[in-house]
Amino acid sequence: MDRIRNGWFSELSELWPGQCFSLEVKEVLYKDKSKYQDVLIFESKNNGRVLALDGIIQCTQKDEFSYQEMITFLPLCSHPNPENVLIVGGGDGGVAREVDKHPLVKRCVQVEIDDKVVESSKQYLPFMAKGFTSPKLTLHIGDGFEYMKQHTSEFDVIITDSSDPIGPAVNLFTESYYKLLKQALRPNGIVSSQMGTMWTDLPQIKQTMNNCRKHFPNVRYATSSVPSYPDGQIGYLVASLDASLDLTKPSFKFTQEQITEHNLRYYNDEIHSAAYVLPNFVKKELY
Ligand code: SAM
Repeated sequence: MDRIRNGWFSELSELWPGQCFSLEVKEVLYKDKSKYQDVLIFESKNNGRVLALDGIIQCTQKDEFSYQEMITFLPLCSHPNPENVLIVGGGDGGVAREVDKHPLVKRCVQVEIDDKVVESSKQYLPFMAKGFTSPKLTLHIGDGFEYMKQHTSEFDVIITDSSDPIGPAVNLFTESYYKLLKQALRPNGIVSSQMGTMWTDLPQIKQTMNNCRKHFPNVRYATSSVPSYPDGQIGYLVASLDASLDLTKPSFKFTQEQITEHNLRYYNDEIHSAAYVLPNFVKKELY
């Protein structure tokens, strides 16, 4: 447990050299080593419960809704009829929780590589893991990359809620993954993927968007604010097989009643469009 010292968890990683985010720990709730990664769940002093994999924060109770809502509704609300959805990763259940809220989704399949993430989330992170109780959901434990090889023309939207490009998720940022995503999509399908921060990961974002562009004609980068991620920000790659679709304009808009009913705390149709507005230094690199 050397990532916790003097009561503070510090997110040291070669992915963001020379900087690190720390949270004060109230209590360690779960700590184990799975076949794929170190899994740690702790109660923090001010951010609620925290999930870290291989020492990297995946979500905190305080701000996880920003990430889960945006990676889900940016693609779902841009698709005219997202009946069939695939989630790759997402072992905490937060994205499944959000997919369940979209009234046009009929069926959702999730492929997560690590059952220890799923089981520990069910026990200690029920505010996210309640997504696993969705009647629309079928969960498979396995590698998303391998799963994709077996599935053709099946999904309208594929959401890759992966960890960072290190460890088991490394394949999920490659050109061959985007080729498989294209094959698994139905006509005019849309994908979204976790895509790092514009402050630290710009070369990686550019590389992954170029990998995606080899197979998708319409590729965009959007952002949202998540204070517990490095730089306080996270990005999303969103891509459509429909070259003429304007991804910045949602075709489905939640009513105020639906926003209240589903407790949408971050996503609305205005923030959908605003998420694609980028600073000049990012636009210059990515477009
Ligand atoms: N919101 C998070 C973030 O960006 O930091 C991601 C959270 S989610 C817990 C990431 C999940 O992706 C993990 O549970 C991990 O086990 C899973 N994962 C990593 N590589 C995978 C693969 N190849 N196939 C399926 N799931 C994978």
